[in-house]
Amino acid sequence: MITKIKGTQDIMPEECVKWQEVEQIIRQVSRLYNFSEIRTPIFEATEIYHRGTGEGTDIVKKETYDFLDRGERQITLRPEGTPGIVRSIIENKLYTTSPLPLKLFYVGPMFRYERPQKGRQRQFHQFGAEAIGSADPMLDAEMIAYAATFLAALGLHSVLVKVNSIGDRDSQVAYAKALKDFLYPEKEHLCPDCQRRLDSNPMRVLDCKVDIDNPLLKNAPKPLDFLSEAAQAHFNSVLDYLKAMGVAHKVEPNLVRGLDYYTHTVFELEADIPGMGAQSTLCGGGRYDRLSETLDGPNLPSVGFAFGLERLLIARDKINIETQAAFIHAFLIVLGEKPKARAMAIARSLRHGGIVTDMDFQDRSLKGKFKQGERLNPYFYLIFGEDELNEESIMVKQVKTGTQEKVSLDQLYRYLVDCLRAETPCSGHCENCESDC
Ligand code: AMP
Repeated sequence: MITKIKGTQDIMPEECVKWQEVEQIIRQVSRLYNFSEIRTPIFEATEIYHRGTGEGTDIVKKETYDFLDRGERQITLRPEGTPGIVRSIIENKLYTTSPLPLKLFYVGPMFRYERPQKGRQRQFHQFGAEAIGSADPMLDAEMIAYAATFLAALGLHSVLVKVNSIGDRDSQVAYAKALKDFLYPEKEHLCPDCQRRLDSNPMRVLDCKVDIDNPLLKNAPKPLDFLSEAAQAHFNSVLDYLKAMGVAHKVEPNLVRGLDYYTHTVFELEADIPGMGAQSTLCGGGRYDRLSETLDGPNLPSVGFAFGLERLLIARDKINIETQAAFIHAFLIVLGEKPKARAMAIARSLRHGGIVTDMDFQDRSLKGKFKQGERLNPYFYLIFGEDELNEESIMVKQVKTGTQEKVSLDQLYRYLVDCLRAETPCSGHCENCESDC
């Protein structure tokens, strides 16, 4: 029997429903932040990853799927999305035709020759986003907020946002020297990989999964202690903006990321869910100010992130998030002939505000109308008859609680939005929790 290749997965029809739901939320949240989708090839010239992701990284050293095609071209199946997207922006000169920063997202398969285990595959899927062409620290904070909003929209509220800064080039040179000076005399106490990294990519030693509890690393100098004045100011601003937006976060001085191109802010979003273990890192991201120039493009300071879709699905399964049955927000029940025209105008204005609304288009009895609504699984019934028309009001019934309240028409939208917001539980990590979460 021919079987699937190790580290790959068949996604069966019943699982596909869960994938589609996550993909739909990706598109909704990306629209809210005004990010547009880009689709680039699944294979690219090998050189892109050697120059972009970096010669010294584990991905390029040990994990890429490389092959020569029939025309003798050196090809690599993409291990990550960012270098291909930056290549496409440079090649298509998108930076000359669209306002900066370009705001792009992607969803698709990636390939890494890793040791397969739960949540770690050789073909896996990422949702990533890139904001390209601005060095403003507002954008770093915006991307972290976008990633956190996405997890909340997925129903994953118990999440830790970890941030750090590895600084600009000056900071990185100063830090690499200090770290080497500190670790070299104790080199033999590091794992064999880290002994090698010490020469090729010293910062990665901090990120080692083998040496995670090594006291040597706990006491090692940290990138934050070597930030240049400009890098420190940039990081302070990112933290201020996160605070202003109410994005709960923790500064993690040992956080560095495994790719060569990062500068300044790096971040990870981790699920605080029992049983996720080594798979709890859902998202990794950071600023990459030099990548475009590394790939022969113009100076385009940028910031991005990537989520692993398989891990998001595992996290949702662990906390038993049921795939949502199709639902609508509001079902409008109109009583009598006269209120019909006004009811249609109400439905239209609610839809324009993002409230998914439907109504009965046949003259059923009141009971029949409720029955019709039930099939559409609404949060609210909105009941609108002649009395309400005359009073400029509407009766709002919340299905979950059974409560019923008359609301004036000019307050209706605000009322519905407030009720829906109260449905979303707080993460408990929010600094403003007690006051106005
Ligand atoms: P990275 O591109 O290495 O920063 O990874 C970003 C995210 O992609 C991680 O936090 C994981 O959620 C996911 N990821 C990375 N490698 C794998 C893999 N081999 N299998 C499944 N998910 C992965």
